[in-house]
Amino acid sequence: MPHISEKTQNIAKNFTMDIHEYQGKQILASYGVKVQRGYVANNPQEAVAVAKQLTAETGTGWHVVKAQVHAGGRGKGGGVKLAKNLQQLEEIAEQIIGMQLITPQTSAEGKRVNKILIAEDVYYPGESETSEFYMSVLLNRSKGINMIMYSTEGGMDIEEVAEHTPHLIFTEEIDPTVGLQAFQARRIAFNLGLSGNAFKEMVQFVSALYNAYIGSDASMFEINPVLKTSDNKIIAVDAKVNLDDNALFRHPKLAEMRSVSSSKISRNARCS
Ligand code: ADP
Ligand code: MG
Repeated sequence: MPHISEKTQNIAKNFTMDIHEYQGKQILASYGVKVQRGYVANNPQEAVAVAKQLTAETGTGWHVVKAQVHAGGRGKGGGVKLAKNLQQLEEIAEQIIGMQLITPQTSAEGKRVNKILIAEDVYYPGESETSEFYMSVLLNRSKGINMIMYSTEGGMDIEEVAEHTPHLIFTEEIDPTVGLQAFQARRIAFNLGLSGNAFKEMVQFVSALYNAYIGSDASMFEINPVLKTSDNKIIAVDAKVNLDDNALFRHPKLAEMRSVSSSKISRNARCS
């Protein structure tokens, strides 16, 4: 990662609160960002119940089980798994709930998983190949501007992309007094190699994502991966959100997410 964002992330640690993926997706969806749909479950029985509900709503029979912990790299640690039927889903839910999830971003003991997100499978086959992108919005404090960083190399560790193929990471600088301009959103979609409906969806995605970032006083939104589906929709499959602690008094609903993220949770919260 370029030094700017590393610095920003260090600052972010002091002044921001982490929220879970499903909560980040709730914020995104409320600003019109398309997200992979899902419900939270606290035990395997709930997991099966919400999976049935998702199937009824979306038609998908496959589900992804995702550990909800405050750390990235969950896939690598066994915290993100695909279930192709309800029996598999129950088994995977049993494995993941209660586990100590160790990822490249946790300590050696890992983090205990108390809840999981049951999400729709969005990697279904179709008219074109799926593609995964990286996108984050963050504040460049030294310049007093916002930045959208993005890459064609999504779904993987962005630090590694920055180290080995830095030319594949693009940056769009945004003057907060002017806001994101239409030509900037189009340039992003173009640099990601998109055309047709996917181009149009990416332009909408970027502007809705920027609105979500501004509207929630966030210090960082990181979506990795942003997925182009096989039918050319653009959706957020993951969401890492840091909210600015000092601005939370302006956002009582977001402040509530902090208490939920550290202790209790509303039943089967929905993230779409
Ligand atoms: P993390 O970044 O913590 O590892 P993600 O939500 O990004 O968690 O998930 C990890 C990876 O799992 C994604 O990069 C994606 O490639 C894969 N993944 C997520 N959902 C699905 C799905 N429905 N089918 C197949 N792979 C998936
Ligand atoms: Mg991810």
